[in-house]
Amino acid sequence: MSIIVENLTKAYGPQKAVNNISFEIKTGEVVGFLGPNGAGKSTTMKMICCYMTPTNGDVKLDQYSILSEPEEIKKRIGYLPENNPLYTDMPIIEYLRFTAEIQGMEKSRISERIHEMVELCGLDVEKHKKIGELSKGYRQRVGLAQAMIHDPEVLILDEPTTGLDPNQIIEIRKLIKKLGKEKTVLLSSHILSEVEATCDRILIINKGRIVADGTSSTLRQQAQGQELLTVQIEAANGEVQKELLKLASVATVEPVEDKDGFFRVQSKPDSSSRKPVFDLCVKKKWYLTEMTGIETRLEDVFRELTN
Ligand code: ADP
Ligand code: MG
Repeated sequence: MSIIVENLTKAYGPQKAVNNISFEIKTGEVVGFLGPNGAGKSTTMKMICCYMTPTNGDVKLDQYSILSEPEEIKKRIGYLPENNPLYTDMPIIEYLRFTAEIQGMEKSRISERIHEMVELCGLDVEKHKKIGELSKGYRQRVGLAQAMIHDPEVLILDEPTTGLDPNQIIEIRKLIKKLGKEKTVLLSSHILSEVEATCDRILIINKGRIVADGTSSTLRQQAQGQELLTVQIEAANGEVQKELLKLASVATVEPVEDKDGFFRVQSKPDSSSRKPVFDLCVKKKWYLTEMTGIETRLEDVFRELTN
């Protein structure tokens, strides 16, 4: 089941928390919704899940629209809200039974389904406890079990790993990856490594607008623009920098501070200087002892887009 977001807008008074965004998530994709706090992630997710009506625009799950068929949408969506509100007085099993009934599941299927969710989310050892007695990690598992109880085709997870310790984060990530094999998943986070570890594709949102959309490697490439190399050249004379600059593909050459024979070579847009640098060294009988590309880190991309 695919998610199609069309010109979605939410205004709180004069502020547009979500400002005319459009994107599509295909069946079986796991997409990360990345952005700083206040970017509009939760607001977007609430609208997708019919917990909030948009000021403008629409969301469709295949042919169903949030505007005209919210009941059809809710049946097909599992939602883990931000901060995962739960009834702390209820034991896990009772709570899951309660949510299954709210979802309108067939009575005869409920017990079996609860059992499946307990297994899948690793709740077995704690299953007789009240929710209030659980650690944060286990509460999050209950939240995921609750979101999936009615076997929805689409999962919307709002910051699913917030507040977990590193071991729990790894566990929940594994679980999401496993789920992602069958379901369409949109998960939000303000942490880059989080979405890089779990998602096929990343949407970056900032101030209510989508500012990037792609895989982590395409986002890196987009930001990279011009190739940047570090080279080390051993030559008897001092003409290396001058000769490098003469190469047709080279835009700038700078010696690296405190490192003899090292240069930072920036290429012109859409060209590479790797082979020309090598050929030059051969021609001049210089030793090329090192050549490395400097990768743009995804953190830099994120900071550039959201600063
Ligand atoms: P995120 O989940 O990316 O951190 P939110 O969607 O929660 O961002 O919030 C986006 C913006 O909308 C923020 O500036 C926030 O203060 C504002 N906002 C969210 N909910 C409300 C509300 N109920 N009333 C007024 N402003 C709100
Ligand atoms: Mg949020």
